[in-house]
Amino acid sequence: MSKPRVAVIGLGIMGSGMAGRLLSSGFPLAVYNRNKEKAAALGTAGATVAGSPREAASGAEFIISMVADDVASRGVWSGQNGALAGATRGAVLIECSTLTVGWIKELASAAAKRGCELLDAPVTGTKPHAANGELSFLVGGSEVTLAAARPVLSVLGREITHLGPTGSGSLLKLINNFMCGVQAASLAEAESMIAAGGLDLEKSLAVLTHGAPGSGLVKRAAERAFANDFTPNFPLHLMAKDLGYAIDQASHFGQKLTTASSALAIFKDAIAKGYGDQDFSAVIKSQQQG
Ligand code: NAP
Repeated sequence: MSKPRVAVIGLGIMGSGMAGRLLSSGFPLAVYNRNKEKAAALGTAGATVAGSPREAASGAEFIISMVADDVASRGVWSGQNGALAGATRGAVLIECSTLTVGWIKELASAAAKRGCELLDAPVTGTKPHAANGELSFLVGGSEVTLAAARPVLSVLGREITHLGPTGSGSLLKLINNFMCGVQAASLAEAESMIAAGGLDLEKSLAVLTHGAPGSGLVKRAAERAFANDFTPNFPLHLMAKDLGYAIDQASHFGQKLTTASSALAIFKDAIAKGYGDQDFSAVIKSQQQG
């Protein structure tokens, strides 16, 4: 059976891996990235490189977006050259970026006006998971639309969790990432305290990461910091973005995310010290700078 045409818009750390995976799985693929250079390798590998999101979306049955934030998402979907303008009636829009619930709902309305359905399908997992089809999708939208999208999503991920109507996936993703940000910030403070107290770092980290505080996130961040390797898998400024979005979302519920606010202050300090484009685990190094 022939595979449906897919468009991937946004070829950063995550989108490039996802696009490569779709291409190697035999999907006819169109790609778009604002910085054209990032599309070149996929073009050589057989993808159609589009000159605009609109061109990429044109004729695609599934249009995936994987961009930085609300501003970027609005930019690639909207306007004369936006993907919505090129989307065929009946196409399924899959927004995989981590975005606000408010923008997702606005986008879903705009999609419906074009006769298209939207799934918010942000992901957990990072660079290697994107490239190897090992992401986990947190999905909001209709069950019927998700059923239609499963053949595409199952090539990209091992787990697909349907959480409810439009915006549900994005909401849980913000909750997921604010917890990750808080853990990373607490590890950064813990490592500063280990240094200040003159404890052996390796022995101390072994105790912490094998013990109760040793979540997957804490383990990975501790490893990266110990190896002093901050090549971005998940850029630090995007973790700060997610903390900010989670805090705003909670305020819509009349809630105060005190832990997220403290973590965000630590991440903002790291950005001010120049670590924004490094891996989020560089927050540990930034704290040691005082
Ligand atoms: P990234 O490597 O920084 O890539 C960001 C992408 O967004 C690039 O394609 C970039 O285009 C595009 N972009 C940024 N601003 C834009 C604008 N104004 N207009 C059009 N395009 C714009 O980020 P990433 O790590 O792939 O993350 C993508 C999304 O996935 C984010 O929402 C992130 O929070 C989420 N996420 C990331 C991870 C991870 O581990 N990396 C894990 C889960 C979820 P240019 O190349 O032209 O700058």
